[in-house]
Amino acid sequence: MLLIGAGGLGSPASLYLAAAGVGTLGIVDADVVDDSNLQRQIVHSTKRLGEPKVQSAKETLEALNPDVEVKAYEERLTSENVERILGDGWDVIVDGADNFPTRYLVNDASVWHGMRVVHGSIYRFEGRVTVCKPGDGPCYRCLFATPPPPELAPSCAEGGVLGVLPGIIGSLQASEALKLLLGIGDTLQGRLLLFDALATTVDEVLVKRDPSCPVCGESPTITEYVDYVEFCAGPRVTS
Ligand SMILES: [Zn+2]
Repeated sequence: MLLIGAGGLGSPASLYLAAAGVGTLGIVDADVVDDSNLQRQIVHSTKRLGEPKVQSAKETLEALNPDVEVKAYEERLTSENVERILGDGWDVIVDGADNFPTRYLVNDASVWHGMRVVHGSIYRFEGRVTVCKPGDGPCYRCLFATPPPPELAPSCAEGGVLGVLPGIIGSLQASEALKLLLGIGDTLQGRLLLFDALATTVDEVLVKRDPSCPVCGESPTITEYVDYVEFCAGPRVTS
C-alpha cells in the first residue's frame, strides 16, 4: 500500500497497516519531524525532531513489525514524480495529503492507473473519508470537480486540529484499505463519510459517478496532470 503523507492521517493509518502485516508500505512525504504537531503525528517522537518524517516512520513501523518493508520517498508528490512512484506497483493508495494540489494529483493518477484510493481529510473538528475505485464508482473529481480557490483552501486555515481527530479518520482509512485488500465488507465507495468530533455525529452523503466528470467522465477534459498552485497566507495546518 502507498501512503501519501506521514502526518496526522498517515501516522495512525501506517501504524495499523504495519501492525496488520501489510507486507510493503510506501510512504511519500518531504517534511521533517516537528514538535508542533506531535499531538497528532504519533508515528514520530521527540527523539526524532528534525529527521525526515519518512525515515522516522520507517524506524517506528519496522520496529513494530520487522516483517514489513517500508519504502521511503522523501519527496513531495508532484506531476514530475507521480508516474515513477505509482509505477512501483501498489494495491491501494491511502491518501492523507494535507493540501488540494496533492489530492487532485493522486486522484487523476489513480484514475489513469486504475488504482484504488482511500481519501481522508480533516478540517478543524470535521473529518471526511471516501473510497474511489476507478471505473467502478465516482472519483474525487466526481464529488468536487476542481479544488477550491487557494485563499479558501482549508489547509491554509489557521487554528488547531484536535489531535485525536486525524487518529479516528486515519484509522478509518486503514480499515477501508484493509477491506479493499482482502475483498471483504462494504467499503465507502460511493459514500462520503462525515465525522463531526464536536457533536460526535457521523453522517454520510451518497455520491455517484458523474458522466461529465473532467477526468473519469465520458468526454474527459483533463488528460494530463494539472499543477495547482498552493497559496497560504497564514500558517499552514498540516494533516
Ligand atoms: Zn470522476
